[in-house]
Amino acid sequence: MPSPLSSTPPAAPYADGKARIAAAIEAAREEILALSHRIHENPEPAFEEVRAAGWVADAVARHGFVVEHPVGSLETAVRGTLRGGKGGDRPRVGILAEYDALPGLGHGCGHNSMAASGVGAAIGLAAVRDELPGEVVFLGTPAEERGSGKQFMIDDGLFAGLDAALLYHPSDKDHVRIGLLASVDVDVAFTGRASHAASDPWMGLNALDALVLLFSSIGLWRQQLRPDARVHGIVLEGGTAANIIPDRAAGRFMLRSTDQAYFDEMRERFVALVEAAALATGTRGEAVFSGGSMTMNDNPVLVDVFDRNLRAYGVEPGPPDPNLGSSDMGNVSWVVPAIHPCLAICDAGTPGHSIQFRDAAATARADEVTLLAATVVAQTAYELFMDAATVDAAARAFDDSRR
Ligand SMILES: [Zn+2]
Ligand SMILES: [Zn+2]
Repeated sequence: MPSPLSSTPPAAPYADGKARIAAAIEAAREEILALSHRIHENPEPAFEEVRAAGWVADAVARHGFVVEHPVGSLETAVRGTLRGGKGGDRPRVGILAEYDALPGLGHGCGHNSMAASGVGAAIGLAAVRDELPGEVVFLGTPAEERGSGKQFMIDDGLFAGLDAALLYHPSDKDHVRIGLLASVDVDVAFTGRASHAASDPWMGLNALDALVLLFSSIGLWRQQLRPDARVHGIVLEGGTAANIIPDRAAGRFMLRSTDQAYFDEMRERFVALVEAAALATGTRGEAVFSGGSMTMNDNPVLVDVFDRNLRAYGVEPGPPDPNLGSSDMGNVSWVVPAIHPCLAICDAGTPGHSIQFRDAAATARADEVTLLAATVVAQTAYELFMDAATVDAAARAFDDSRR
C-alpha cells in the first residue's frame, strides 16, 4: 500500500508546494471519494454519461474553475479552466477525467476512480492557485470505451494550446509508461430477405448465415495474425424468430494492432471478409468504421517527472504491462505531450473489464490509490507550472517523437 499522503515528504523539487497540494487533497478526501463511489454506483456507457459529467462539472466549479458543460460537440464533455494568480498565458496544463462505464458490466475499467482523481488533482491545484502562472485546464472526457470521445474533443479544438495532458488509469499493476494498440470500432450489418423457415426457406436470403460466416472467417484468420493483433466482436442482431429466415443481422467488432501499417492491412482484409460472407449468402454486407484510437506516444520528460513524484510515496513502478489495450489517450499523445500512468487498485493478475475489477474499483484500496493518483498528477502539473524549462523539454521531446 502507498504511504499516507499528508505525512510523506513529496519528491524534490518544489516539495513545499507539493506538500500543500497533498494536504488540500487529503482535506477534500470525503468529497473526492464520495464522487468516485457515486459514479461507480451509477454507471453510464459511452456518450451517455449525463449524471457523471454533471457531478464532475459541479465539483470543479465548487473549487473555483470556470466551467463549460457541455463543451464542443459532445453533450457529456466538460471543460473547467482556472487561471493562475501569477498571470501570463503559459503554461496550460490539462488534467483529464474519464467517466464512462461498460454496457452490462458497470465500472469494470474503474473510470469512477479516474474521474474522482482528475477532480482531486484539480482541487489540489486550486489550493495553490496563487502560486501558479498560466492556466489549469480540466477536461472531462467522455466515451473512452467506445467511440474515442477524445478525438471529438481534439477536433473541437479543446486540446489546442495545451502544454501537457495528464491523467491516471486504475490497473492491476503500477507502471508509468504504457503501450497501446491502435484500435477501431466496426459495425457490420447484413441485409437479406425474410421468408417462412419451414414452408419457403428457399425464398429467403439468410443474413444471419452471413454473420456466422464472418465469425468463422475471423476465427480462421486469427491463426495467421501477428501475435499483437486482435479482432473480436459480438452479435447485436441475429433475427427475430426461429421460424423466419433472418433478413437482417448485425455485429460489432474491434480491430487492433501495435503497428499502424499492419493495422491498415487488417482493415482491408476485414472488409474483404464481410464482402465474402455477403457473396456466399446472396446478402448485402456493410462495414462502418468509427472511433479510431492510436498507439501511445509517451512523453519521456513527463514520464520522468511523474515517476519521481510517485516514488516518493513508496510506489515502485514496473515496466509497461505486456497485456495491451487501447485508449483514445493515444490520439491525445500525438497532438499534446501526454502520459497514461497506471496504478494498481487490486492484485496483479486480476483481469480488466471483469466483475472482479469492477468490484475492486470501489474498495478502500482503490480509494487510497484514487487520492494518491490525484496527488501525483497535481504535483506533476505543479512542476510544469513552476519550471518553464521542463515544459520546454517536454515540448522538444514531443517534436522529436513526431519527426
Ligand atoms: Zn479504461
Ligand atoms: Zn476499458
